[in-house]
Amino acid sequence: MPESRGPSITSPSEADLAARANDLADRIAPKVIQWRREIHANPELACHEHQTSAMVAEHLRSIGLDEVRTGLGGGTGVIGVLRGSEPGPVIALRADLDALPIREETGLPFASTVTAPWGDIDVPVMHACGHDAHTAMLMGAAEVLGCLREDIKGTILFIFQPAEEGPPPGWQGPHGAKLMIAEGALSNPKPDAMFGIHVVGGRPPGTAGDIHYHVGAGGYAMRQFKIIIEGKGGHASMPWRTVDPLVIGAQILLGLQTIISRRTDVYQNQATLSIGSFRGGDKFNVIPDFAVMEGALRVTQADSLPEMERLLSATVEGIAGSGGAIGRVVWGHYDPQLINDVELCSIAAASFGRAVNAGGKVIVAPPFALDDFSQFSHHVPSLFFTIDVPPEPGQNVISGDHHTSTFFVNESALVVGVRAFVQLSLDTLKNLPGTKESPDTVDHGAG
Ligand SMILES: [Zn+2]
Ligand SMILES: [Zn+2]
Repeated sequence: MPESRGPSITSPSEADLAARANDLADRIAPKVIQWRREIHANPELACHEHQTSAMVAEHLRSIGLDEVRTGLGGGTGVIGVLRGSEPGPVIALRADLDALPIREETGLPFASTVTAPWGDIDVPVMHACGHDAHTAMLMGAAEVLGCLREDIKGTILFIFQPAEEGPPPGWQGPHGAKLMIAEGALSNPKPDAMFGIHVVGGRPPGTAGDIHYHVGAGGYAMRQFKIIIEGKGGHASMPWRTVDPLVIGAQILLGLQTIISRRTDVYQNQATLSIGSFRGGDKFNVIPDFAVMEGALRVTQADSLPEMERLLSATVEGIAGSGGAIGRVVWGHYDPQLINDVELCSIAAASFGRAVNAGGKVIVAPPFALDDFSQFSHHVPSLFFTIDVPPEPGQNVISGDHHTSTFFVNESALVVGVRAFVQLSLDTLKNLPGTKESPDTVDHGAG
């Protein structure tokens, strides 16, 4: 296990740089809020984040980054590259771009009224997970770090990733973080450390601007799946002449619940199994031939997945067979458990301390559920942290959970995210192994 490197600031000039960075972040905060509102009012679904991506690329070019790569991750991913005044380590900061098929009901002046195609239907679109805030905060961090280029020894990648929430219906192959990695996001140059952020709304444990992170591996690993139930359709008035895939599907949906409640050791494995989509049939008096369910299995004990997948398949096939139908499971995308690197956590404690508001808290907390940032964390030493964004006490707004129509972000916390990205960058560039060598001996594209 790597040793702790202790507090990051060791000289007056470093303290001065950290203070200047925070000052720049504070001054840019109103712009970050404006960007967030603009993105919020114009949300785009996974793999369709064209406007958002263009806005990000335009911003990265306008602040004079050395390189802005576009068209990544299925077409909408963006990577900006900032090279400091001297060579050094490479770090990457990541935000996600996509919104969700949810109708917004926050009543905010910049609430979304957007609809967009999703598969073969039109759906309302909303930033109901805070990815608008992540993108705006990273745009702000890029601008601040761009202003500090003279003080930066190393390279910073700003990675804006599409499709964190999963791809659109019919999408083939990898998506999101996995696709960005497959395309080489982590190879030119390879980062020595990587950071990602998520806001936490609804009823978070802290107050607005508090930072949480966990140390080591934690949270869920997730396997997505689709269940196809093949029955035999017919007239709804004569169900005995059909094999009704909807009734059998309903039995399967309930039967699956016993995998967690009766067959999982919940002391060892905090698992969940949820179905988010159950489709079949087009008319009240026609029993359809097929029903399809989609869902995800999430486990905190990653090596339990093979056995849980076996149980899920057996339950689907058994219940379908008992009703005369054929049930099968198609296994889909896998996200591994997030690993927060122990050494980065020890560096970050000081960075976070300088990022929070006066009186704000930095909390080593239970793991965040899951974000596909976990894919990066299996390739590069990484740290994923969260910022609480509940309303102020007494503020008269409904603050729904993530992925609901009333999800709310307290924008006063966004500056904390900008500061955190910036302070983490400065501290990591300074503290990572190899950076104490003279510039002549440092490999610019380390690793
Ligand atoms: Zn989400
Ligand atoms: Zn999210």
